[in-house]
Amino acid sequence: MAEPISDEANGVGVASSLTPYTPRYIDIGINLADPIFRGRYHGKSKHPDDLKAVVGRAVEVGCTKLIVTGSSFKSTRDALKLAREFPGTVFATAGIHPCSSSIFSPSHHKHHDESQSEGEEEEHTPACDPDPSKPIPDGEGVDHARSATIIADLARLIAEARAAPASGPGPSPAPPALVAFGEFGLDYDRLHYCSREVQQHSFAAQLALAATLRPALPLFLHSRAAHADFVRLLRDAFGPRLERLERGGVVHSFTGTVAEMRELTEDLGLYIGVNGCSFKTAENCDVVRQIDLSRLMLETDGPWCEVRPSHEGWKYLVQFEAKAKAAAAAAAAASPAQAQGEAEAEKQSQQQGKKKNQKKEPEVPERYKVVKKEKWEEGAMVKGRNEPCTIERIAKIVAEIKGVSLEEVCEAAWANTVKVFGIDP
Ligand SMILES: [Zn+2]
Repeated sequence: MAEPISDEANGVGVASSLTPYTPRYIDIGINLADPIFRGRYHGKSKHPDDLKAVVGRAVEVGCTKLIVTGSSFKSTRDALKLAREFPGTVFATAGIHPCSSSIFSPSHHKHHDESQSEGEEEEHTPACDPDPSKPIPDGEGVDHARSATIIADLARLIAEARAAPASGPGPSPAPPALVAFGEFGLDYDRLHYCSREVQQHSFAAQLALAATLRPALPLFLHSRAAHADFVRLLRDAFGPRLERLERGGVVHSFTGTVAEMRELTEDLGLYIGVNGCSFKTAENCDVVRQIDLSRLMLETDGPWCEVRPSHEGWKYLVQFEAKAKAAAAAAAAASPAQAQGEAEAEKQSQQQGKKKNQKKEPEVPERYKVVKKEKWEEGAMVKGRNEPCTIERIAKIVAEIKGVSLEEVCEAAWANTVKVFGIDP
């Protein structure tokens, strides 16, 4: 919250101004259990484990809470472990992603809980790129005996996570590690991981489990190119207006239409999570414009879904930064001492610019250096590996698209997230 400061404190002998807003963020969808954040790419170590630095950079930009996605048995266990390692900063979800749902099919040959498999494999969370050329066809059916075991194991995993003794020093109990059921849902853009019929079974079976949990958990949902089936299965489990869904839920990484968004938020009372994938096209951005702030949550979905210069959203980021720069310059001009400092800095940068052959200043400033994974260095981000500190870009783009302040976006998303996930601010 912005607070007025005294003339004395701001060092200017003129009428007092407001302190600039310090943004705060909760990344509701970050795949921090992915081995990529340990420096491991497709089973090979490419650089040191820099997970702590990734969390550190997030906290530095004001992203002080991270909800780590559990999308399989293994990633759920790993997410829970991280939540215990960073109590009060990292929280976890527990569920089986549609792209990990082939464990329900008769042809699946490994143990459904990868953590129990021999020669435990490191698997990346599925990238968000569709591959329409290789869909797994329906017709194979579902292994019902195995399905019952999977759901019982998931129920046990959730019960264990909730019963875990409070860790950490001090008399106050540790914050909960598990804050949502999911990630689960339907993804018809990525049928190369799992057929439609198996995905529907996985979603329905997990919804049935979610409906029996006491106390209930909010839902962390995924829906891609599957809106009608997605809504039908939700209604089957929780009623026509999801009136039996006590704790609500969020449909994350949203890329649907305005009509779909309205049905989810207005008819079903759900929230919408946006990340870089939600700004790819002008149509995407138009949907974001129409999401009511009271229904909005922010996420990065790292290591995937970064905002790219080729995306429609990028131009809003450029606009935001240009306005911020102009506002800073105007403020400096109003303050003689600051103006002098700015002029000095400008002169210096011009001199440096000459030395560096007038290298063009980027339209969007990089807060941290970005290097290729082969050239990893301490303190730098890795090119192509999205991480939670980039959430500020998501908030800036939403603010610019909607024509509201960054503060309005951040505070609305923060309040919505704290309420739904029951996170103690
Ligand atoms: Zn997802």
